[in-house]
Amino acid sequence: MDWRSRKGDKRGSSEDRRLFLDPEHADARITDADLEHLVLLPPCIDPKEWLATHAMNFFTLVNLQYSAVSEFCTAESCPSMTACGKIKCSGPQYVDYVLSYIQTAITDERLLPTKYGNSFPTMFEALVRNIFRLLFRILAHLYCCHYRDVLQLDLHAHLNSFFTHFVYFARHFHLLDARELSPVADLVELLCSSQQSNSASSDRDSAHVLSQKHVGNGDWVE
Ligand SMILES: [Zn+2]
Repeated sequence: MDWRSRKGDKRGSSEDRRLFLDPEHADARITDADLEHLVLLPPCIDPKEWLATHAMNFFTLVNLQYSAVSEFCTAESCPSMTACGKIKCSGPQYVDYVLSYIQTAITDERLLPTKYGNSFPTMFEALVRNIFRLLFRILAHLYCCHYRDVLQLDLHAHLNSFFTHFVYFARHFHLLDARELSPVADLVELLCSSQQSNSASSDRDSAHVLSQKHVGNGDWVE
C-alpha cells in the first residue's frame, strides 16, 4: 500500500516522517501504563473472546482517531492510496471502505458471536488478522499523511499511546506480518523500545492461539 499522497505534496513527505519521529512528539503519552503487559491473556479467559473483544475495541478507537482528522483527509489532500496494486482510490474512499467492511464484519453474529451457545467460525483467525491489518493501515496513514493535523489538534499523545497498545497486541498474537509494519517500522521501533520485552515469553501458549500459517485473502478488503 502506498501510504503517501501525491509527489510534491508536503503531506507524507520525508519532512513529516521526521516530525513524528521527533522525540518532542514521539515521547508524548497519555499514560505510563505497562502496555506490553496489558495485552497478555488473563487466566481463564477464552483466547478467541480476548481477540474478538480487542478487535472491536480497536476498531472503535481507530474510527474515533480518524474521525478527528477526517476533515483534512480529502480526495485533494490524499488523492491516491493504492493497496496491493488491486484497489486504487483516494484516502477517504479507502478508509470509508475499510471501516464499513469491518463494521459489517464485527456486527455479524456468524463471524463474531456474542450470544451464548454460538461458536466462532473456522475462519475467525483469518478475519481477526485481516481486521488488524486494515486498522494498522489507517493508523499508518494518520502518521504518514496527517501528523501535522494530529499535532494541531493536540492528539499526538493519545495517538502514540493507542498505537503502541495496538502494536503490542498485534505483535503478541502474531496478527501483523513484518512487511505490514515496514512502512512505519522506524516509528514502531521508537514507540515500543521504551518498554522492555520481559513478559513476551510468559504467555507463549496463548500467543500461538493463531497459527503462523498463511491464510488466503479470499474476498477480504485489501
Ligand atoms: Zn488522508
